[in-house]
Amino acid sequence: MDEAIKNELKALVENIEFDVPMRTKTSLRVGGPADVIAAPANAAELQRLIRYIREKGLPFFILGRGTNLLVLDGGIRGVVIDLKGLNTLEVREGGVVYSGAGVPLPKLVYFAMENSFAGIEFAAGIPGSVGGAIVMNAGTTEGEIKDVVESITLMGAGGDISEIKKEALPFSYRNLSLPKGTIVLGAAFRMRAGDKEEIKERVGALLQARKAKQPLDLPNAGCIFKNPASAQAGRIIDEVGLKGLQFGGARVSELHANFIVNNGNATAKDILSLGAFC
Ligand SMILES: Cc1cc2nc3c(=O)[nH]c(=O)nc-3n(C[C@H](O)[C@H](O)[C@H](O)COP(=O)(O)OP(=O)(O)OC[C@H]3O[C@@H](n4cnc5c(N)ncnc54)[C@H](O)[C@@H]3O)c2cc1C
Repeated sequence: MDEAIKNELKALVENIEFDVPMRTKTSLRVGGPADVIAAPANAAELQRLIRYIREKGLPFFILGRGTNLLVLDGGIRGVVIDLKGLNTLEVREGGVVYSGAGVPLPKLVYFAMENSFAGIEFAAGIPGSVGGAIVMNAGTTEGEIKDVVESITLMGAGGDISEIKKEALPFSYRNLSLPKGTIVLGAAFRMRAGDKEEIKERVGALLQARKAKQPLDLPNAGCIFKNPASAQAGRIIDEVGLKGLQFGGARVSELHANFIVNNGNATAKDILSLGAFC
């Protein structure tokens, strides 16, 4: 990247790094270098950055916590924007919980539990950020993010900020379709009053179940394949005998067939080849 642009970016965002291996930023621990990772401290800094990026015609990519990403070995050109600075987490008027996009989802689950808000327990054990969870409509058979979202705050490609009510949001299975370049800044969540001990019990049981069923000791990105209608991708992969299949450093988990794990030295190419074979 051009030195002049690097210097202008440094002047816009204090928390900025260059040539960062994306394997250090993703749960799969693969991915080549990003030219730039900029972490704006707040929405105003993000807005200035987005306007600069647009003015210069630079490509950009939004990073949550990298738990649903397979970054290619060639890395990412342009600016990766890390939203960890958007970390507001509070109860607002009317009992709504507001969370910034950069808040880790487990922290929101814990915050709800501590404040006796029920309804988001299904998300216990899903890693990632609140912003990532909204864009992915993260969930399980117990529930999904759209069930608890009341509204989301967005930044458009030109830096304009708006709030959209849930009714107007096109959520679908593990997806929220937003116009290209839109950034989720945060969301208001509507939960119900609950009994703290009961919430704790449900969260604890879900975390235990994950520990038993998922290969959490090795780098992974959760389930690799979406479930086809009325079937489970993991069961299908298991039934055709692919558990344990290995390409380079990537392996189909013996514990959960819909997880591809990184044995330590996997490349993105290994993971893609194994996924394509499955
Ligand atoms: C062990 C493990 C278990 C998992 N279990 C589940 C599960 O049960 N259910 C489930 O649904 N998922 C699961 N996942 C997948 C993953 O955690 C979720 O999809 C999560 O919501 C991704 O959030 P993230 O912040 O890591 O997003 P990232 O991986 O950083 O990004 C994912 C996508 O969202 C975009 N994005 C992220 N933040 C924003 C934002 N603020 N604005 C605009 N775009 C944004 C990124 O550009 C990218 O396209 C699991 C993953 C792991 C590693």
